[in-house]
Amino acid sequence: MFAVHLMAFYFSKLKEDQIKKVDRFLYHMRLSDDTLLDIMRRFRAEMEKGLAKDTNPTAAVKMLPTFVRAIPDGSENGEFLSLDLGGSKFRVLKVQVAEEGKRHVQMESQFYPTPNEIIRGNGTELFEYVADCLADFMKTKDLKHKKLPLGLTFSFPCRQTKLEEGTLIGWTKGFKATDCEGEDVVDMLREAIKRRNEFDLDIVAVVNDTVGTMMTCGYEDPNCEIGLIAGTGSNMCYMEDMRNIEMVEGGEGKMCINTEWGGFGDNGCIDDIWTRYDTEVDEGSLNPGKQRYEKMTSGMYLGEIVRQILIDLTKQGLLFRGQISERLRTRGIFETKFLSQIESDRLALLQVRRILQQLGLDSTCEDSIVVKEVCGAVSRRAAQLCGAGLAAIVEKRREDQGLEHLRITVGVDGTLYKLHPHFSRILQETVKELAPRCDVTFMLSEDGSGKGAALITAVAKRLQQAQKE
Ligand code: BGC
Ligand code: MG
Repeated sequence: MFAVHLMAFYFSKLKEDQIKKVDRFLYHMRLSDDTLLDIMRRFRAEMEKGLAKDTNPTAAVKMLPTFVRAIPDGSENGEFLSLDLGGSKFRVLKVQVAEEGKRHVQMESQFYPTPNEIIRGNGTELFEYVADCLADFMKTKDLKHKKLPLGLTFSFPCRQTKLEEGTLIGWTKGFKATDCEGEDVVDMLREAIKRRNEFDLDIVAVVNDTVGTMMTCGYEDPNCEIGLIAGTGSNMCYMEDMRNIEMVEGGEGKMCINTEWGGFGDNGCIDDIWTRYDTEVDEGSLNPGKQRYEKMTSGMYLGEIVRQILIDLTKQGLLFRGQISERLRTRGIFETKFLSQIESDRLALLQVRRILQQLGLDSTCEDSIVVKEVCGAVSRRAAQLCGAGLAAIVEKRREDQGLEHLRITVGVDGTLYKLHPHFSRILQETVKELAPRCDVTFMLSEDGSGKGAALITAVAKRLQQAQKE
């Protein structure tokens, strides 16, 4: 009897020691309130650099003018096509805006695969592939005879001097096609369509997915002046006063700014919170040294950070009996989907263990506890960092308007935000903590990015029409 107790004591002591040691490894992943407040301040400073003319060209947070000025006023109508390229899925949409004078959007869409050979191959072929998919869609929907206006949602950083033009600054996430950087993607698409000599389209707008998301939510809630994507990638846009945008002439009204906040930290300004696991992930990515904040906060990288920590813990003998398996060495095994499952509170440890086994990781019950702990630390840091960025924006908007309190809506989309059991809550709590004088409503956007491009196209068409009359 005594021996059994002693054994139990011994094992729980062992567990306690193990957890303590693991905690020590996770120490740098945990951010204090003060640190978060400081990150928020730094983000604010980087935004200002992006907005100012002389510092914009070298700014890490690019603050790109989008030439989207007006949100839909409800009088738009017509039939539009849109393309959504660069999120977790590629798709073509037909969007009917308004019917019988009613505010209403109806969509039909089709997903198409984006094989690695295409998105990491030759740029001309990438856009030919996009045109192929468009042709296929138009054929099935019997649209080839119409010259429809098209909006392109393109979820990468682009410099714009007008709505219907976008020069790709650099690929992010999983894309790396040749000969596109520095080129106008609208031109590339237009040329690819022309070469087919089969149908004609009127490309009216190229928009970032954050902008599309903001627009879609703005169609229902005029208070929506921010768009947030927390998915494969991470980014945010918001409506800024023209007088603060030095890169664009004119001081009246507002314009949407695509912050491209993923680049926050590329100038070294958050090196103090950057860990050696982040370095590992960065070095194994398609764009080393770039998109540092995105690499700490988005779905494409969180699982990789987890994997790096697990490898390290295993090396220290704190996991998987000290054996680094082939599986654990394999990149990309932890998709957002798995992180979400592992962290779900409804799962018993045994189920966590089963998930790990499905991934090919042979684990004990203690291992499952550790893995869950690691996932929690990584996703928590991501949500808090996103929250700090968002808090900086809403505070800036409040100050700029000289308001005691600001009420604002954020349109949100992205797999991480939608699927993860804790991400959205922690993000919201962080914003509340850091920006207590702002009352921020989060509005989930369904299919926001593609629909939004169509809405922006519809607004542009309405304005063109008004000018003619
Ligand atoms: C891109 C952004 C995009 C975000 C979310 C980032 O990698 O740079 O343009 O909005 O991903 O898709
Ligand atoms: Mg998307």
